[in-house]
Amino acid sequence: MQLNDKIYIAGHRGMVGGAIKRRLQTLGYNNLLTRSSVDLDLRNQAAVDEFFASEQPDYVFLAAAKVGGIYANNTYRAEFLYDNLMMEANIIHAAYKHGVKKLMFLGSSCIYPKMAPQPLTEDSLLTGPLEITNEPYAIAKIAGIKLCEAYRDQYGCNFISVMPTNLYGIGDNYHPENSHVLPALIRRFHEAKEAGKPSVAVWGSGTPRREFLFADDLAAACVYLMLHYDGKELVNIGTGEDLSIKELAETVKDVVCYDGKIVFDASKPDGTPRKLMDVSKLHSLGWKHTTELKEGLVQAYADFLKKRHMAVS
Ligand code: GDP
Repeated sequence: MQLNDKIYIAGHRGMVGGAIKRRLQTLGYNNLLTRSSVDLDLRNQAAVDEFFASEQPDYVFLAAAKVGGIYANNTYRAEFLYDNLMMEANIIHAAYKHGVKKLMFLGSSCIYPKMAPQPLTEDSLLTGPLEITNEPYAIAKIAGIKLCEAYRDQYGCNFISVMPTNLYGIGDNYHPENSHVLPALIRRFHEAKEAGKPSVAVWGSGTPRREFLFADDLAAACVYLMLHYDGKELVNIGTGEDLSIKELAETVKDVVCYDGKIVFDASKPDGTPRKLMDVSKLHSLGWKHTTELKEGLVQAYADFLKKRHMAVS
């Protein structure tokens, strides 16, 4: 990938695509191609085909997706399956048809079976049933992986797939119901602090364990693998470290400087008991994360405050 190659970042308005764009800009890539969803509906096959035909990108980062936390995944089951299938199918097929040199597909750790041995190794894909709350999203992502594999096998396309763990960072979604746990807790603790509320509700039992990677670290890993990895096999991207939701809540409470209590709301689902990536392959390829959770949380909270300030002023 040369500095003036045309690189299309699908999903640049999202947290991940935005981080990939920043990373590429920092490294000096100067021919980045983006489209907002208003200008290009990636679910529309003809529109995507026309876009690739006229722009002829050399490289593609497929970071466009309909994403959300456990509630959104479980509630908008049809859209999570349909939108994601359509977007990835259209882009991957167009990338093949219009001769893209290399494409990176971003999946998710939820593609692995609910009861797969932890930490999750890349070869546990399709070895057992999925977690039901995010099954539609996971099925769509598995289809994306298989599309990349099939176009590689049949047509020799250099399409690679990476599986990020749970992410957080700059430009996250702080919706109270639809977001992931980490941004949801930042917002809830902050609002409780401002309102002087005595306690904050955390969904589920607090016992599930999750791993969190700062989105800018993910972006650095994606660009690194785009440059250095051409294999058919998936590559997990994470930190290899996890903590319980209870420990996470305590850490967020600390960062936000909230001094009330934490209460667990057992009426909400726990989801998968544990989701920890085996990152030995990533490490053996020469990449390791640099932002530890506490440090990333401080940056994410600062970004949350900045957006909040902009929204009210
Ligand atoms: P998951 O990793 O796909 O399950 O996605 P989430 O980030 O939505 O949820 C992770 C865990 O955090 C689950 O056990 C949730 O029940 C728990 N959790 C606790 N409080 C919240 C919250 O306010 N929002 C979300 N989304 N999850 C929460």
